[in-house]
Amino acid sequence: MRLPLRLLLPALAAAPALRAQSPAPAPAAALPRVHVVATGGTIASTNYYGGEQGKVGIEALLKAMPALDTVARTSAQQFANVASTAVTPAMWVQLARAIADTLRARPDLAGVVVTHGTDTMEETAYFLDLTVADPRPVVVTGAMRPADGVGIDGPANLMHALRVAASPAARGRGAMLLMNDGILAARDATKANAVRPDAFEAPARGLLGVADPEGVVFHRLPQRAPLFDLSRVAELPRVDVVFAYPGADGAAVDALVAAGAKGLVVAGVGRGGTPAAMGTAVDRALRQGVVVVSGTRTGAGSVPVGRGVRTREGAEVPATVGSGDLNVQKARVLLMLALTTTNDPRAVARIFAEHQ
Ligand code: ASP
Repeated sequence: MRLPLRLLLPALAAAPALRAQSPAPAPAAALPRVHVVATGGTIASTNYYGGEQGKVGIEALLKAMPALDTVARTSAQQFANVASTAVTPAMWVQLARAIADTLRARPDLAGVVVTHGTDTMEETAYFLDLTVADPRPVVVTGAMRPADGVGIDGPANLMHALRVAASPAARGRGAMLLMNDGILAARDATKANAVRPDAFEAPARGLLGVADPEGVVFHRLPQRAPLFDLSRVAELPRVDVVFAYPGADGAAVDALVAAGAKGLVVAGVGRGGTPAAMGTAVDRALRQGVVVVSGTRTGAGSVPVGRGVRTREGAEVPATVGSGDLNVQKARVLLMLALTTTNDPRAVARIFAEHQ
């Protein structure tokens, strides 16, 4: 006979053998300290499916989280409360500075968690990975389902993100994403599904690790390279992405250069290809000193980085730099930071090679 679940649950809770398996909670004073920086997103939204959307502050999200007092002692900061489409490159710089300042001022912290909308989470996380010079982890998380939804993922993601940020094993691994129990390197992670809770993937390199119920487990080290110093960066240079497709001409490239783009990333077909007219416009942009990175619109695979120059009539002229296996939105972040240090495509190519 199969008993209905509602009858089984009280019996299970009372079973001494099963109760004995759950670990005794650590005394609060022994728990690691984690600072949470909240920026908004679906994790902090209500009424997502209709009507006027509501916002939930980080203190309320933490208060509502079951068993928070078994994971970490938290402090929290409401940096913003916006959809991630409203997060700007200027906010990346402010956020990186705020996190670096907090880590510097608080040697007691084990790590930092950032809550963020999932749509552009991968860009913010990669920017933090490239700029926050501290061995303590920065773990970015969010939710695919709103705070008042059904079967919501926000509390689980936040709980596991705190566990990862509190874990000594997470040190030296840079910025990471924690989504759907998986730990993804900021460099590798991408949102690969617009709606499902298992939206994030790391196509070329796979998960960094997992946050299992028994513990946080890392499988490998992430690719890391010299970081960028923001101390003298007033504003990030304009870098745009152009998409290649059959019949694409040079209109978008020319317009973006006219709008002041200092760099362009081409989401090329296959291994970075473009129709001829678009390629001619890219050559015009290169001659004007715009640095162009050639990526792939496929979502996986690589475009060889190359040297950033090619030989024409015996002389070296600027050429596109391949994105390697960075996707186009990640290549844009790296190019923006690279352009804060150089406009020479050869030097940009060296930076892209280091980050493969
Ligand atoms: N629109 C939301 C955002 O990125 C989506 C999410 O958080 O999942 O802010």
